[in-house]
Amino acid sequence: MKWTTKPNPRHKDTPLCDVILQIKRNADGTLNEQLTDVCYSPEEGGPSLFYWSEGNFSCDCNRETPFGEDTEDCTYGRYSLRLLHPETREVYYQDGQWD
Ligand SMILES: [Zn+2]
Repeated sequence: MKWTTKPNPRHKDTPLCDVILQIKRNADGTLNEQLTDVCYSPEEGGPSLFYWSEGNFSCDCNRETPFGEDTEDCTYGRYSLRLLHPETREVYYQDGQWD
């Protein structure tokens, strides 16, 4: 998968790349999709995954925000997350429940 990077105004040593972020509410299957930009990791050859798999966005208290929810419950498993390439929509990363 080939990623196009762009300069990061806040950290000049860490470029950014666009990614499609999908979050699914497992309870009813509602899907939220947005185009966002994230830190690019040369070592990983794509978006840096720590933030999504172990960092802030591994937690339901952040994943629930696009659905207008604010329970601040630090649980895991209420939401599934997927990162897609912005042009090809190939799946780069996913966790949780997807078909
Ligand atoms: Zn949390």
